[in-house]
Amino acid sequence: MQSKHSKSETQKPPSIKDKISLKAVIDSMGVPADIILSNAVDPILHINCNGEILNCNSTARVILGYDEGELKNCNIFSLIPEEYTPFIKERIPCCNEDETPGDKEQEKEDMFLLRFPDSKGILNSYECVIFPFCEDEATSFFLNLWIPDHSRNELSSKLQEARSNYEALTETITEAVVMVDESFNIIYANSSCKRVFGYTREELTGSPFAMLFPREVFSRYADEFKKYFYMDAQDDQSVRKELEVLGRSKNRGVSPLEISFGNSRELEQRTIICIIRDITQRKKQERQLRYLAYHDKLTELGNRDLFHTDIEEFFKINKSHEELCGALLFLDLDGFKQVNDTLGHQAGDLLLISTAKRLRGLMRESDMIYRFGGDEFVILITRLSSQSDVDLICRKILQVIQRSYNFEKNNQNHKVNIGVSIGVALLPAHGTDRETVTRHADLAMYKSKESGKNRYTIFSEELTLKAKNKWLIDQGLKTALVNQEMYLLYQPIVNRDGDITGVEALIRWNHPTQGLISPDDFIPPAEESGLINPIGRWVLEHALMDIKELNRIMNRQLYVSINISTRQLNAPDFLEIVGRAIKRSKIKLENLRFELTETFIMQSPEQAIRVLEQLKKNHPGLKLVIDDFGKGYSSLQYLSRLPVDVIKIDRSFIKEIPAENNRKVITSIVNLANSLNLGIVAEGIETEEQREYPPLKDCQYMQGYLFSKAITYKELLQYLNR
Ligand code: C2E
Ligand code: CA
Ligand code: CA
Repeated sequence: MQSKHSKSETQKPPSIKDKISLKAVIDSMGVPADIILSNAVDPILHINCNGEILNCNSTARVILGYDEGELKNCNIFSLIPEEYTPFIKERIPCCNEDETPGDKEQEKEDMFLLRFPDSKGILNSYECVIFPFCEDEATSFFLNLWIPDHSRNELSSKLQEARSNYEALTETITEAVVMVDESFNIIYANSSCKRVFGYTREELTGSPFAMLFPREVFSRYADEFKKYFYMDAQDDQSVRKELEVLGRSKNRGVSPLEISFGNSRELEQRTIICIIRDITQRKKQERQLRYLAYHDKLTELGNRDLFHTDIEEFFKINKSHEELCGALLFLDLDGFKQVNDTLGHQAGDLLLISTAKRLRGLMRESDMIYRFGGDEFVILITRLSSQSDVDLICRKILQVIQRSYNFEKNNQNHKVNIGVSIGVALLPAHGTDRETVTRHADLAMYKSKESGKNRYTIFSEELTLKAKNKWLIDQGLKTALVNQEMYLLYQPIVNRDGDITGVEALIRWNHPTQGLISPDDFIPPAEESGLINPIGRWVLEHALMDIKELNRIMNRQLYVSINISTRQLNAPDFLEIVGRAIKRSKIKLENLRFELTETFIMQSPEQAIRVLEQLKKNHPGLKLVIDDFGKGYSSLQYLSRLPVDVIKIDRSFIKEIPAENNRKVITSIVNLANSLNLGIVAEGIETEEQREYPPLKDCQYMQGYLFSKAITYKELLQYLNR
């Protein structure tokens, strides 16, 4: 039997039509497989559906390069490169369990390229067609092979033509183009390779592809490169078409490259085509952009985003650490705003830059420093073993920031001193996530501010508790009045004989869940939020009504002394509110006193003087008391200008009686009051000793637990009846 498409007859690879007729011949003849094999001119392998080679003809043996019997009983799948197995498997139906044999025979009868190793392992290319063969009910397969003949192959010459066009094209582009064969040898290089790699095309052609990469890079990527040879034109999604790798040039060392891959599927060999760009410049730009995105322009410290990345990284690395291994420091400069306001923004900027420098000079290389904007700095200490190190670092920071800053402005040298408030969270004790540790460090920092600035505070749970309480207070205050949680107490004020002359109204808040909250705890937040205005108004109205009623019932002329905060004083409708309350209660003006603290008045003395003068003008007879006198620094100049009538000596001086230096203070306050013709109240009198204290002998009025605590209206009635 003679195959119709032996080369001697047709000089061409068989067409599909030829192959079908060959199958027809095989089918119709019912000839045994051995006969077919021995008569075929083409090399033919006979395999079963598992790929085992049952037999082959001598042509196959010779062409494939094996000795007699060498191929028999081998499995074809263990011989050929793995990438080719699907081509065969899909053509021998029992390898595809879903399909019944013979189902798709027709479709699968196309020719494909097969790489087959000779006995030395050298791969050669063959064109291949597979035919099923039925003998005694069993299906086996004939693999019909041809050596591709490209000199007469139309497709091949077209490819050749395309290739030279392609080569001409590659000469015009600035990227390096290399073509690499399956053994990773460069078979073509364009002249731009010289620019990218420093090698001429002659130097590259025939050289190993590996020479374009540092050794370890090539070995890491070799498998990845291999995939490109078999990447299908139909786009294999699993293979990226671009790679960024480090390359190596002849004399410029290592630089980042971007390689785009394509492959040619020429019949005799597979090649990859690599278009290679040096992306050093782009990488540099990317780095610059990234730097800008993660750094503060002014100080060149990291910004908040970088901090977020770093701290997440820190937690990842130290996930299993339970002992102290780091610390987060929040820094807020004290007095920065004044520098900005008095010397201008430029000086402010310089101060921030020098602060950054000072911090950087102080911290270790492994510590990260960030600026969150404004005068907030953050330090992440990533290696730490004892808390005493934290104390030491904080003390050093306080020291370096305290050193004077010098500025030139308008040819003048300015010396500026600032401080810094630091809050510390220890890691991981004070949190194992970003949100918690920043909140804790921030809270500790606020604590430092609150306790007088220029110091450091290490976070403790107690701070959270305080913050939580503050929150509860802020929330509760909004509804306290409406829910009738507030009430007034009155503390008697007595003369030297112990007779009651008036009362001070003192507010109380009975919080629904927290119980009784001291005014020292809720008045400051109420002042901060402005809620002191409705609260103060409520106090004013109720105290006036109460005292008016009390005096009526008891037939007395007691006065009520009401605490007024500056925020109230500064409210635009203060005078109006007071006027209305006085009118409504019909209280006698000599029965009304307002207490203002010295520190409050001194915050904006001119404004206080203006309002108080107007108040006295509107309501002649109403008396003004300076509360907590001696506690703040009081300027005599203002004191003489304020329309005050009475001063109240702060109870801290009374408390420490008979401390010697208090004697001097009390004596001078009393002398001052006398010289200005002001009345004096001593508050906080708890003992007989305090009452009889000689420097207080000129003090007309007293107030304190010795006489009475603050009591309810009802209790006050009983007190008066005694
Ligand atoms: P303050 O005006 O100095 O009031 C005197 C405080 O001293 C009161 O505390 C009073 O109970 C307490 N006190 C009186 N005698 C003695 C004593 O012998 N020994 C001791 N240790 N303490 C004594 P309270 O009622 O807790 O008020 C605290 C502060 O809250 C007041 O200090 C005042 O500044 C403010 N405050 C109270 N009620 C009002 C109010 O209605 N409006 C405003 N704006 N502030 C108020
Ligand atoms: Ca008071
Ligand atoms: Ca007081």
